[in-house]
Amino acid sequence: MGRTVVAANWKMHKTAGEARTYVEKLLELVPSRLEFELIVFPSATALYVVAQVLRGSPIAWGAQNAHWETQGAYTGEISVNQVADLGAAYVLCGHSERRHLFGEDDATVAAKVRSVLAGGLVPVLCVGETLEQRRGGDAWDVVTAQLSAALKDIGPDAADRLVVAYEPVWAIGTGVAAQPEDAQSMAHDIRSWLTELFGSEGAEIPVQYGGSVKPNNADAFLQLPDVDGALVGGASLDPKEFWTIACSAVPR
Ligand code: PEP
Repeated sequence: MGRTVVAANWKMHKTAGEARTYVEKLLELVPSRLEFELIVFPSATALYVVAQVLRGSPIAWGAQNAHWETQGAYTGEISVNQVADLGAAYVLCGHSERRHLFGEDDATVAAKVRSVLAGGLVPVLCVGETLEQRRGGDAWDVVTAQLSAALKDIGPDAADRLVVAYEPVWAIGTGVAAQPEDAQSMAHDIRSWLTELFGSEGAEIPVQYGGSVKPNNADAFLQLPDVDGALVGGASLDPKEFWTIACSAVPR
């Protein structure tokens, strides 16, 4: 069985103090051994305190964003080295809010994926179509264009250090999740595409679903044959709710 990855994207929520309280509560809920990878993505300002609490625990942490250069005159940015120094093991790349609200194009996302891998961390590459693109029958073309741009320069040796999140833009933060059969079909096609690119290693890359995953629909997504976990935004802000979702990832 491949890897399963359940991740909490807190977006721009929680002070460092609130982050501490959250991870302390989450730790009380989580057993000492987990059957899947569990990750929290706090704001950069809370990474230090999250690292203090979670170090040595089964819960990993990551950064929501990182610049593609290792250092330099990039006011307001943070580097992969800087988040790695705080023990972060993952970085979100190409989240639709970065693409659509901050103008990150495919070339930027590709540069970030390369720099995350070069820094020894795991990029969680987010891909997904808008509602207009889905209605126009272009969902698959959009997703493959995003995958191709981000991964074309990545060698197969990096395949075991990648996670892909299929996140239809229209499902993010809207309360309207994809139909599980659509998520399954897209995850299946993404896996085939990754296998074509990377060979058998590509088939093992976890493909998450993200977009309005909640405790009441988590089972429907996390038990799908080609969906290897979830990227959870709004419903991850409460540790109990997030853990309830994560429990749906336990193989049945
Ligand atoms: C996300 O931010 O990646 C996300 C999927 O958000 P939400 O769960 O709120 O739709």
